[in-house]
Amino acid sequence: MRLALALALLLAAANHPADTTHSFRGYAAQNAATEAQWEKKFRDLPDRDRIRENMKRLSARPHHVGSAYDKDNAEWMLAQLKSYGLDAQIETFTTLFPTPKSRLLELQGPAPFKAKLQEPAVAVDPTSSQASEQLPTYNAFSRDGDVTGPVVYVNYGRPEDYEVLDKMGISVKGAIVIARYGASWRGIKPKVAAEHGAVGCIIYSDPEEDGYTQGDVFPAGPMRPPDGAQRGSVMDMPVYPGDPQTPGIGAVEGAKLIPLDQVQTITKIPVLPISYADATPFLKALEGETVPEDWRGALPLTYHIGPSKAQAHLAVSFNWDRKPLYDVVARIPGAKYPDQWIIRGNHHDAWVNGAEDPLSGTSPELEEARALAELLKQGWKPQRTIIYCFWDGEEPALLGSTEWAETHADELKQHAVAYIKSDGNGRGYFRAGGSHSLESFVNEVAKDIDDPETGMNVWKRVRLVDISNAKGKDRDELRSRADLRIPALGSGSDYTVFLDHLGVASVNLGYGGEDEGGQYHSIYDDFYWYTKFQDTDFSYGRALAQTAGTMMMRMADADVLPFQFGNLADTVHLYLTQLKTLATDKRDEIKERNREITEGVYDALKDPKKTLVPPKTEDVPPYLNFAPLEQASDDLTEAAQAYDKALDAAAGNGPAELNTDLLRTERVLTDEKGLPNRPWFQHVLYAPGFYTGYGVKTIPGVREAIEQKRWTEADEQIKRTATALEHEVDLLKQAAKLLPAGSSQ
Ligand SMILES: [Zn+2]
Repeated sequence: MRLALALALLLAAANHPADTTHSFRGYAAQNAATEAQWEKKFRDLPDRDRIRENMKRLSARPHHVGSAYDKDNAEWMLAQLKSYGLDAQIETFTTLFPTPKSRLLELQGPAPFKAKLQEPAVAVDPTSSQASEQLPTYNAFSRDGDVTGPVVYVNYGRPEDYEVLDKMGISVKGAIVIARYGASWRGIKPKVAAEHGAVGCIIYSDPEEDGYTQGDVFPAGPMRPPDGAQRGSVMDMPVYPGDPQTPGIGAVEGAKLIPLDQVQTITKIPVLPISYADATPFLKALEGETVPEDWRGALPLTYHIGPSKAQAHLAVSFNWDRKPLYDVVARIPGAKYPDQWIIRGNHHDAWVNGAEDPLSGTSPELEEARALAELLKQGWKPQRTIIYCFWDGEEPALLGSTEWAETHADELKQHAVAYIKSDGNGRGYFRAGGSHSLESFVNEVAKDIDDPETGMNVWKRVRLVDISNAKGKDRDELRSRADLRIPALGSGSDYTVFLDHLGVASVNLGYGGEDEGGQYHSIYDDFYWYTKFQDTDFSYGRALAQTAGTMMMRMADADVLPFQFGNLADTVHLYLTQLKTLATDKRDEIKERNREITEGVYDALKDPKKTLVPPKTEDVPPYLNFAPLEQASDDLTEAAQAYDKALDAAAGNGPAELNTDLLRTERVLTDEKGLPNRPWFQHVLYAPGFYTGYGVKTIPGVREAIEQKRWTEADEQIKRTATALEHEVDLLKQAAKLLPAGSSQ
């Protein structure tokens, strides 16, 4: 066995002489060569047929939280991991998970209509008929309610949509609003509607978003059919995700629960998602003015704002039960630094059968774990501890990851190096977002992954695709900057607790852009649909396993953790510039509007046949003091450059204490007081927007204060953010001193 292995290694080296010249950040030259060989062996292992079989098995029946098959899947994955030879276990939590007891939506008046609220089975699609196990269409964490009122159309239901309504003199007080899916996370829609006095909220899938405008509808094509509806959570996750009854602590046995009626994250009004077939009669009943052009969807009707003369009646009630969660966790102990953990995760629960979301990510992750286990048998020993997680309960509220990480918070703060995350995956281009101290690392790894369709590396492909879509300065930058920029992470998946709550550097990755989706959170997101329309031969499932697995290995085996801070400093500088522009724009906008009001612009705009409510004059915002942030940004740039240079000069050689410092570089970017009004969110650079949900707000404390015109708070947050950044500066200086070139400075 040993001889064969040595021979194989020799052969690998002989066949790939280029591998010996590999240079990886944080690796001494010789270790880089060995690492390159192991990684190459690893990337040959993931098997498309095994990924297909994983998906087939896991998607065979509906597997939402609390269902029989959810538990069955967890046990099956545990058995798989053990059969690969890995040390694995299931960690169980119990959390709130409401399911529908009754749902009713009807239109009263001259043309009465009762919504079907049912996605029909499709003959060619074998699992679409598993009605007895399917969760009905509903929005989880909607409150119970029975309300009647006129209907008003609110476009996407974002704060800016209500500004348009205000101008048109339309109030939603006492109304049931109808909002279309898209543009914001769905949970924002009922939240903002309730703030404006609506009594109920219905959310529908307009065909413009993912129906016939985008392509043929299922089963002829992949897109959402007339009766297709999008389930999903509407919990107020920008306040905190996870079990609503145990914020900040793990939902383990004996955990103190806050009473249901005191939970802040359940919606204030009842909510229900519907198909466009069900939405059409409600939209047709709307009267009043026609909507602004960009509010129109793709249905063959004239979109009116409302209100409707006919009343709508919405009644929903739920079983407010606590259900078990099954997180499956496998651990490979590190040989040299067992106390430094690299964590990988993807969820396994789904709304229904969930082939795309999440199994197109889960199935490759399982195959990735098998491939690493195979390498272990061949003699590979990771230097750091590797942890593979398969989360339950992501869909309702990031339950499995949040409760696990809250339970293990102290250990994670001490030991976690990074969290590498995926979710649904598709055919197309490499995409990654995450912590900017890992931006360079993500770029480095992507250059070693072959794109299945073009044969070029996935980094090169996405760079060229981005160039074709970019203009002007952005295009110049794509051509000239060494690394592709990665976007910051908002929320909407399992990295949230790691990055935003604990300050663990995180990366979210996947492939997509060539297949179109179209069945998000529907009963048709299943094996039949996925294997007919999406990554049908699983070559991008394989690419995902290769990419994430390579990241895990390269992070686990590095002599010096491969963080790079020049890109972080560059990004912070960019955010600061944006914030200053935002503050100036806000001031100019208010000044200009005040002037127009005095000039009589709004008197001139009056059309007697339309309603126009003129705005009121506002106080002109004060100048903010950005000096502390400017100073911190400059200091960070200097310290980052010095550290990066010192590491380069050391050619990957550094003392063990250096890793201990590097492990804390994301942690110090948190502020234990958290964001104003939402202390659970502690990262000073990234947070999901309070009014955008999935959408990220960068330097959120400052940005949201400016957007929401809280000027004193903005000045305060500038200081708090600057303080965190100065801690980063100190840490980088300390780290640089541990390197020969850094200590001489
Ligand atoms: Zn998902």
